[in-house]
Amino acid sequence: MDHLIQRAVKHLAAAQNAVALTGAGISIESGIPPFRGKGGLWEKFDPMEIAHIDALIRDPARVWKILVKDLKDIIDRAAPNDGHKGLARLEKLGILKTVITQNIDGLHQMAGNTDVIEFHGTFAWQRCMKCDRRIETRKVDASVLPPRCGCSGILRPDAVFFGEMIPPVALWRSQEVTARCDVMLVVGTSAVVQPAASMPILAKQAGAVVIEINPEPTPLTGVVCDFLILGDAGAIMNRIISGLEAQR
Ligand code: NAD
Ligand code: ZN
Repeated sequence: MDHLIQRAVKHLAAAQNAVALTGAGISIESGIPPFRGKGGLWEKFDPMEIAHIDALIRDPARVWKILVKDLKDIIDRAAPNDGHKGLARLEKLGILKTVITQNIDGLHQMAGNTDVIEFHGTFAWQRCMKCDRRIETRKVDASVLPPRCGCSGILRPDAVFFGEMIPPVALWRSQEVTARCDVMLVVGTSAVVQPAASMPILAKQAGAVVIEINPEPTPLTGVVCDFLILGDAGAIMNRIISGLEAQR
């Protein structure tokens, strides 16, 4: 393990253009549950029943009740953990240029990263399904579900549901920064949701070193990723940052 931390430190110290791809796992230590795996929402609910665009159109009140309201309350209370802070520190050190995140919790921006691509949108904003107006989630009255816009349209999270397209600019920019990166950190993602999971493949094709940080292997492990550092994002990032700072 020490050997793998040293390997990561060596590659990051030499990097000019590192990029991180993050997933729900990096926010678990902030108290936000993942969807898959132990304690995940999908243990209790079928994703197609509550996180598919058809489910939202069919029964928005139910989707708000089961998915949006609880997740919003949890996200409202959450703060960045050492995993997010480590990525922000990597940017301050001039190593990390962009974070591509599948998360919708805003914690990378709160930690201090300045270029965050929200691949699956955000829960910080709601969008009217009728007039397309955007409203900050914290200003939405969720006492009656589903909440509505002034025009009477239903408000929905400005996030990507299953069956919807990735925001084109997010996809295009992610592909662009990935094609230029020399190191990609893949942190806390099960790497099964496409097209986000194909970014490490594009990075590898472009010649980057791909380093995974996750307590469990993923479909990318040993195939696309050069090596996996097994463990929680917070503890591993702390060790990587200590290693990098010791060299300066
Ligand atoms: P996922 O739920 O499919 O997988 C989580 C991954 O994190 C797993 O591989 C797991 O082994 C790993 N993990 C667990 N604990 C960890 C830790 N302490 N440190 C690092 N890794 C850890 O997550 P995904 O791949 O991001 O895909 C799920 C989708 O759900 C995403 O598209 C995202 O939009 C959405 N989601 C977001 C949030 C959030 O914003 N925080 C939360 C739940 C789901
Ligand atoms: Zn409206």
